[in-house]
Amino acid sequence: MFQPPKKYRHRDINGHLLKPETLMMSYGYDPQFSEGSVKCPVFQTSTFAFKTAEDGKSFFELAYGLREQRPAEEPGLIYSRVNNPDLEILEDRLGLWDEAESGLVFSSGMAAISTTMFSVLRPGDVLLVSAPVYGGTEFLVENILPQFGIQRVWFGSGNLGPPLDDAVKLGQSLGRIGMIYLETPANPTNGLVDIARCAEIARSLTDAKGRRPLVAVDNTFLGPLWQRPLQHGADFVVYSLTKYVGGHSDLIAGACLGTEDVIAPVRGMRTILGTISDPHTCWLLMRSLETMKLRMTSAMKNARYVAEFLADHPKVKTVRYLGFLAQGDPEYDLYQRQCQSPGSTFSFEIHGGEAEAFRLLNRLQVVKLAVSLGGTESLMEHPATMTHSDIPPERQAEMGITPAMVRISVGLEHPSDVIADLAQALEAV
Ligand SMILES: *Cc1c(COP(=O)(O)O)cnc(C)c1O
Repeated sequence: MFQPPKKYRHRDINGHLLKPETLMMSYGYDPQFSEGSVKCPVFQTSTFAFKTAEDGKSFFELAYGLREQRPAEEPGLIYSRVNNPDLEILEDRLGLWDEAESGLVFSSGMAAISTTMFSVLRPGDVLLVSAPVYGGTEFLVENILPQFGIQRVWFGSGNLGPPLDDAVKLGQSLGRIGMIYLETPANPTNGLVDIARCAEIARSLTDAKGRRPLVAVDNTFLGPLWQRPLQHGADFVVYSLTKYVGGHSDLIAGACLGTEDVIAPVRGMRTILGTISDPHTCWLLMRSLETMKLRMTSAMKNARYVAEFLADHPKVKTVRYLGFLAQGDPEYDLYQRQCQSPGSTFSFEIHGGEAEAFRLLNRLQVVKLAVSLGGTESLMEHPATMTHSDIPPERQAEMGITPAMVRISVGLEHPSDVIADLAQALEAV
């Protein structure tokens, strides 16, 4: 599945397979290429000098798909909208977590999602989408794709909304189903969608020409540490790297990973749409990947304390924390099969409505009132009027998004400080 091992891309020591967290500091980079610099430099350049005109010709032939890649041939560096060393090393390292053959890094999560959809879907196609999804994805699917003749059919996550089987039937009646796109756990409800089932349905829809819908999973919420969609049969895993992977709330980026045969057309689309990430952002992301496991593990532990505090609080009505799924719950088995941890972003409802939620948010001192998630600092927001405000109230209700709901992304502060802040802010409710 992996690219042919190169001298500086070895993954084992005498047969002992190195783990991703070890490889994050070395994989794909040899200090001898850059004056012995232990860290990969930022290759802040727009263009690359060819040794010979013949090399330039050969690099372009490969980049534009004018010929097949030769065995063990590496694509030559041309221009930073096509490739760049920081980008390529980052993509190789990112792929290790998901055990993906190929990966692409984009200028944002939305760039990754839209470029992937535009490379797969064609006019007349139908897209099946789980609900709720990230607000930007919702806008793309509801308002932009229809302008290109691509219809969408929604199905629910968790135990809410239209069932998947109904959506498949409706989709088939409207046209060829080109893609099944899901976000699981869903933002902000933490509703789950069964990835393996979607993959099975996609394979059962293979047509006479051998074409079938491709399954894409937005794995931003649990990140590659806590959920590996490709291992459950998904074709694409997409990320907003802005969140847990970047992890410091200081950059915007995205990714799409999968087998080389599904990724290759997305790479071509990225080159032409220009949705690639820049060298400096790629460099920051490589730095972030070195501590990703540490950060996500620590945030996950902190989140459990915070969720338990909230669950016991008299002003809190419900806490949608995956760690509270109990045996007998219809989602419990799926959670056990699909996820390695509840992660550290979840929502909860307080008694009351928007006014009470705002009172809580306006009193926060340690936790920041901001959208986004997965950073070192804890963040809270109000989905109904912020991240999911473009969804009409009746559809919000159907998805389980209520005016009394707030979302928290628990960061790396001491959990007792986050709890003390929530305790004083809840007094205002
Ligand atoms: C933030 C987010 C996105 C969009 O990513 P950007 O980097 O902001 O473009 C997509 N999906 C999910 C689940 C997100 O949280």
